[in-house]
Amino acid sequence: PPSTRVAVVTGGNKGIGLEVCRQLASSGITVILTARDEGRGAAAVAELKEAAGLSDVVFHQLEVTDAQSIALLAGFLEARFGKLDILVNNAAIGGVQLLPIEGPDDGSAPSGEKFSGMDARQMAEWMRTRCRPTSDAARAAVQTNYYGTKNVTEALLPLLQASSDGRVVNVSSDFGLLRLAREPRKHRSERRAMQHFSNEELKRELNDVGSLTEERLDELLSLFLRDFEAGVLGARGWPTEFSAYKVAKAAVNAYSRVLARRHPELRVNCAHPGYVKTDMTRHSGLLTPAEGAGNVVKVAMLPEGGPTGAFFALGEEAPF
Ligand code: NDP
Repeated sequence: PPSTRVAVVTGGNKGIGLEVCRQLASSGITVILTARDEGRGAAAVAELKEAAGLSDVVFHQLEVTDAQSIALLAGFLEARFGKLDILVNNAAIGGVQLLPIEGPDDGSAPSGEKFSGMDARQMAEWMRTRCRPTSDAARAAVQTNYYGTKNVTEALLPLLQASSDGRVVNVSSDFGLLRLAREPRKHRSERRAMQHFSNEELKRELNDVGSLTEERLDELLSLFLRDFEAGVLGARGWPTEFSAYKVAKAAVNAYSRVLARRHPELRVNCAHPGYVKTDMTRHSGLLTPAEGAGNVVKVAMLPEGGPTGAFFALGEEAPF
């Protein structure tokens, strides 16, 4: 029935995305849990249906970097519901290549390797020795985290406009904030030594959402990838650690603000879930996936007529 709200969650098979699906479905929303892998997605839906007793969860395949996969999802939603009320762009990758400890170098992390129990110094050492910031990984993060979010959103816009209260929540990160001089601290014990965005002109441009265009964002991202390959990130004022992840999230934030201005009929907001124990953080973190998801769902469920073009950190509105 058209009175039921419909939500799509990208990267819904695990981590924060899976918990967002669980919480939305628990509030009586019909959830389309999407995943790039059919098997992992179907298993997640089965878990929500059988273990959690949530019947209104539907699986649909979605690889956010694949235009055809996006089009198939849009067609499915159009035929089945004719609208979309909530889009949660959650899918993302870390943007670094993880080096295996032993065995073939296939870029995957050895199973069972976890950060939990490491202190900040051990973690920094782990990152220094185990993460390689390759340009392939940087390019993949820009494609997945920025263009994936943008292309899914653009394809589903007509369906969001068919809702009386269409909402987009882009799961972002404090790593993409422009107002910070240094990389945000994950924990009090951490030193804040890592360089963040230091190019003042770049920050001004990304913050000037009245003049910023998507074409300019494309140019800035190409420039970033060129500077990455030329090895001049620091000199050009880009972040130097987890740079592709941070740049892609900053672009997601800027895009969200531009989109919010262009579509006052929608609510388009960004949500930082907190530092969460998931595969992305190798299960380090301060929050459980359910707590992190709660900070995202809170933004998805804001009262009608609430803020748009805003950033929320841990569920509270905060500056970019
Ligand atoms: P996980 O690595 O646990 O989950 C990421 C999800 O995204 C998986 O379902 C993964 O699918 C999916 N995904 C990755 N690439 C694609 C793709 N190309 N197409 C479709 N799905 C894809 O990460 P988290 O749950 O921690 O992260 C969720 C979001 O929260 C991300 O946007 C992340 O940047 C953000 N975030 C997380 C923080 C944290 O501390 N964990 C902190 C700040 C922000 P698959 O299983 O197939 O790989």
